Amino acid sequence: MKYVSLGTPDQSFSLKDALFKGLAPDGTLFMPENIPALSSDFISNFHTLSLPQIAFEVLKPYVTAEVPDDVLKRIVEETFSFEIPLVKVENGMFALELYHGPTQAFKDVGARFLSRLLGYFNQGESRKLMVLTATSGDTGGAVANGFHRVKGIEVVVLYPDGKVSPYQEYQITSPGDNIHAYAVKGSFDDCQRLVKEAFKDNELREKVYMTSANSINIGRLLPQMIYYFQSVALLRRQGFTEAPVVTVPSGNFGNITAAMLAHKMGLPVKRFIAATNANDVVPRFMASGAYDPHLTIATIANAMDVGDPSNFPRMFRIYNNNLELLKKQLVSQSVTDEEIRTTIKSVYKSRHYLMDPHTASGYLALKNEIKNDETGVFVSTAHPFKFGDVIDPLIDGGLNGAGYTIEFELPVRDASAVMNAGYRELRSKIERLA
Ligand SMILES: *Cc1c(COP(=O)(O)O)cnc(C)c1O
Repeated sequence: MKYVSLGTPDQSFSLKDALFKGLAPDGTLFMPENIPALSSDFISNFHTLSLPQIAFEVLKPYVTAEVPDDVLKRIVEETFSFEIPLVKVENGMFALELYHGPTQAFKDVGARFLSRLLGYFNQGESRKLMVLTATSGDTGGAVANGFHRVKGIEVVVLYPDGKVSPYQEYQITSPGDNIHAYAVKGSFDDCQRLVKEAFKDNELREKVYMTSANSINIGRLLPQMIYYFQSVALLRRQGFTEAPVVTVPSGNFGNITAAMLAHKMGLPVKRFIAATNANDVVPRFMASGAYDPHLTIATIANAMDVGDPSNFPRMFRIYNNNLELLKKQLVSQSVTDEEIRTTIKSVYKSRHYLMDPHTASGYLALKNEIKNDETGVFVSTAHPFKFGDVIDPLIDGGLNGAGYTIEFELPVRDASAVMNAGYRELRSKIERLA
């Protein structure tokens, strides 16, 4: 499989290039050159396979001929090493829980798959690979965990000091070894700016072999297709054979793009629903045809606080950049914070099912859109515990009372784990680690 840039489609790249560059040289995103169709035999029978077996078959065309079968097999076994259950919440509404991975959010799968591919491709290199990431919270934990002890790779995670939750800080800082976490005296934007400066620093790049584990990396997106095969497999095993309506709480629109790729490969899906919070660029685009990004609005579903979703061009490309085609497959709904709170409360009360704010936006959009004779799946993107500050006031006895607690202890932080928001300091840290 070759990878092409969305901006300059006649230029093609290897998988290795696409993974190490992250963005194409013209600044646009990489896409697979074509979306291969799975055999009708596989489409009819994949529910009889295990999760890693499904992952192997679906991902294989995207990595041949650069990754041998036995390596891909090992990578998917390490990536899909936890359960992804489907829970019936009410008649016709199922939650696919993507949060049973090590950092309790769906980004674990992407981070693990990417880390192992990078590790594999970097084997022959004499130089270490330096992975730089800025995080506002969730991504940092998934990257720290996913890259922990991957040979030949050093990871630098920058997070804004005092602006992530204690549990997020625990997830970012506790792995140690090849994971170097720094609390930056500044905002998330400062962290991002520092990373960008490092990538623009040609002198540094000559000395240090660097890449990013940013969510736009195609290596994080591809394995997320497997979630949607899993939803259909588990529905079939429960006797539901109709193609489901699939709902994805969306921010950067990477997860729903993966679902749409799976559909293009042959996965039966009736239609898609993208739930957003107040950051409603895509719902407005669907209504007016005008793509009008705005500054990010802060909400209680903060992992979806994206004013200009970076995967939108990929998603649109799947439908030949044709709004009418996209409309046939997708509806997109924006949900307010107040609606999210009410939904968490009422579903917990009536069904005894607890959802984090992101998942609740998906549940509500599906509930609003689904028809009587349809089967709906909404993906549950994070463990409710990660958003205790939102959930505690909404339910009797809070998370504790509901039995959703996780024990953790912050590691002791020394002075070297804190840095100023100036580039010189980051640069010297990187040089020392390389
Ligand atoms: C990242 C994230 C999302 C949004 O996913 P996208 O692929 O960016 O659309 C939704 N929920 C949670 C909990 C997340 O961490």
